Amino acid sequence: MNDVSDLYTQARTWVGKQATRPTTARDPVNVPMVRRWCEAMGETNPIFVDADAARAEGFAAPVSPPAMMEVWTMAQYRPGGRLKDDSIPVLELFDNAGYTGVVATNIEQEYDRYLVEGDTVSFTAVVDDVSEEKRTGLGIGHFVTIRYEFTDQNGEPVGRMLFRVLKFKPNLAQAPAPAVADDAAKPAFPHPRPAITHDNAFYWEGIARRELLIQKCSGCGELRHPPGPACPHCHSLEWDTVKASGKATLYSHVVMHQPRLPTFDYPLPVLLVELEEGVRMVANGIDLPADKLAIGMKLDLDFIEIEPGYLLPAFRPSR
Ligand code: ZN
Repeated sequence: MNDVSDLYTQARTWVGKQATRPTTARDPVNVPMVRRWCEAMGETNPIFVDADAARAEGFAAPVSPPAMMEVWTMAQYRPGGRLKDDSIPVLELFDNAGYTGVVATNIEQEYDRYLVEGDTVSFTAVVDDVSEEKRTGLGIGHFVTIRYEFTDQNGEPVGRMLFRVLKFKPNLAQAPAPAVADDAAKPAFPHPRPAITHDNAFYWEGIARRELLIQKCSGCGELRHPPGPACPHCHSLEWDTVKASGKATLYSHVVMHQPRLPTFDYPLPVLLVELEEGVRMVANGIDLPADKLAIGMKLDLDFIEIEPGYLLPAFRPSR
């Protein structure tokens, strides 16, 4: 019902206005929640969970990891989506116009002080910017930036966050549902391409020859993947490669249902594979529907030819 310029004009009227209702954390900063967050993140600094360690650093009580600032005010999880009160109308405007895809593109946070056990965090949120329509790898869309200001129980600022999302129109929205679509009915849309750089060119050149190459540090001998310029163990910049045998096991997996991007079939299993050589990589499966995935199963390397000359490594059940 909106044409594109109307949508943009309407969305721009939100700039400078409240993006969602001001929100106060449901719980004060507390050690049990911090401990679970630290465990999930692999954070081991004791000042976040241990009163003595915090006091030794000059704090009155355990402090919250700065990156948890927003966590305290997150909306309650609801299987059906956000409560009406927690909605962000400028984003709903795009949803209603068919721009139903969303991907977070930037999060910038600033902290004024550590939050301490017992602090209660609140935020206000203002729409900072709405971009003109952009053509992106995911589809056409608009970048929406929201500025959050966080305060403590006395109304004093404790930090702020700039949160930018891309609201895009998934190209499959106009195509038949994947379950009934044959290949010919798929929209012409290029498969996403890897960003090939000086550091990973060897890897993609190997894949094009149907060889999976693993980077090997010349300093300490450690294997690593994905490719990078320096060894994370000894920081050496010297490296060579070894060719993977192709024998692997399924270490973990997820099954993607949303968002539905063009050129992929859903539900889409995404595998985390542990190669016999010991490194892990993310890859697609072949002949591996979601109900056949079993952690620990033996896998063999193969290659999928996306287009002539463009191959991706993939894994199939071992025979
Ligand atoms: Zn090394």
